[in-house]
Amino acid sequence: MSLQSQKGGNGNVQATQPESGNAKGAAKKWRAGVLGATGVVGQRLVHMLAEHPWFELTEVAASERSSKKTYAEAANWHLSSPIPEAARGLVVKGVEPALACDFVFSALDSSVAGPVEEDFARAGYPVVSNSRNHRMDADVPLLIPEVNAEHLGAIRVQQKNRGYDTGFIVTNPNCSTAGLVLVLKPLADAFGLQKIFVVTLQAISGAGYPGVASLDIQGNVIPFISGEEEKMEAEPQKLLGKWDGAKFVDAGLAISAHCNRVAVVDGHLECVSVELQKIASLNEVREALRNFEVDSELASLPTAVRNPVIVLDEENRPQPRRDLEAGNGMAAVVGRVRASPLLDVKLTLLSHNLVRGAAGAALLNAELLAARGFLKQRVSPRAGEVADSESALR
Ligand code: NAP
Repeated sequence: MSLQSQKGGNGNVQATQPESGNAKGAAKKWRAGVLGATGVVGQRLVHMLAEHPWFELTEVAASERSSKKTYAEAANWHLSSPIPEAARGLVVKGVEPALACDFVFSALDSSVAGPVEEDFARAGYPVVSNSRNHRMDADVPLLIPEVNAEHLGAIRVQQKNRGYDTGFIVTNPNCSTAGLVLVLKPLADAFGLQKIFVVTLQAISGAGYPGVASLDIQGNVIPFISGEEEKMEAEPQKLLGKWDGAKFVDAGLAISAHCNRVAVVDGHLECVSVELQKIASLNEVREALRNFEVDSELASLPTAVRNPVIVLDEENRPQPRRDLEAGNGMAAVVGRVRASPLLDVKLTLLSHNLVRGAAGAALLNAELLAARGFLKQRVSPRAGEVADSESALR
């Protein structure tokens, strides 16, 4: 598969559609389904898929509350741009693996995502998931393409272990972990990491919709997010660790996280202190972050940014309201790099929880899967077969 790319006006690399391996040899988009399409993350995916050069949204699925309605009727739309025309009239289906698409994104509530994602993978669909359920499975890649693309090697092991044919599950990290690990990666490569102490100020959209009650969060800070600290302490170990060809080997870091919900709509801010393995000056740390650049394979993916970490020098940045959209929401923005009297260096980072931490992360994962030949154009179930399987499940 060849990927042609060119540099766009915003400095991002814009990729054209890859040649697909379909029977007629014609260039054709991969058909994408979104499970949980009506939720906060699902809506972002629907929005980001609307103009996508490689993928076309053909199916939306959600709970029985939404099923059989049109997408426009079912989705309580939160974005400022209107619902994409191509999505408005799609009929929302149930989450049974009989969808006319080549692969699915999963933005399902974690109460249902686990078995549903397995059903889809077993039925032959690649599943690109946002949900926490399979992130730490021993044979499931927890993927940030700029950090650990080699973890895709686990897909073949997963298929063998679980008896999947063309299907598999790949996950992206928790929204606050995504920004943190993107910033830790160049520091790990340049200096090595020992200890990380992080305090988060997390936006309310991270809790989905309707999420935290307005009376609880308005003018307030809630110093507890269920399960979040555990995820932030566990997921970086896998992300920054190695895939040795048979198993994941943890990075062996000491990580302590405090997670807080604050009255910000979008964007997670994190105050991070780091102990490095090698002595480094603050300027060397800033340069390592600034020079973090993706390789040409990643740069050719439509959602990628060439420099996924942006370093600001102003003393009062980053700020969610000002810096959230940096790199189209795909960059982590770092500021306040300074010496730590406890560990070596401390800094503040911001990342877009719904883009870098969710929909954009999943989209980038799917693009890497496509570029590496993991997505195939599936033969759609015929209409009669879908109806049969739906009635069998009722
Ligand atoms: P959300 O707004 O609550 O949306 C949940 C989605 O799941 C909705 O489409 C909902 O459909 C569907 N759903 C709920 N129960 C279902 C059932 N029994 N059967 C089928 N579908 C069901 O949540 P979200 O914030 O978008 O999060 C989605 C997933 O991504 C979660 O696993 C979350 O942990 C993860 N995540 C979220 C963020 C973030 O910043 N928000 C970041 C990273 C990862 P209905 O509308 O029909 O109820």
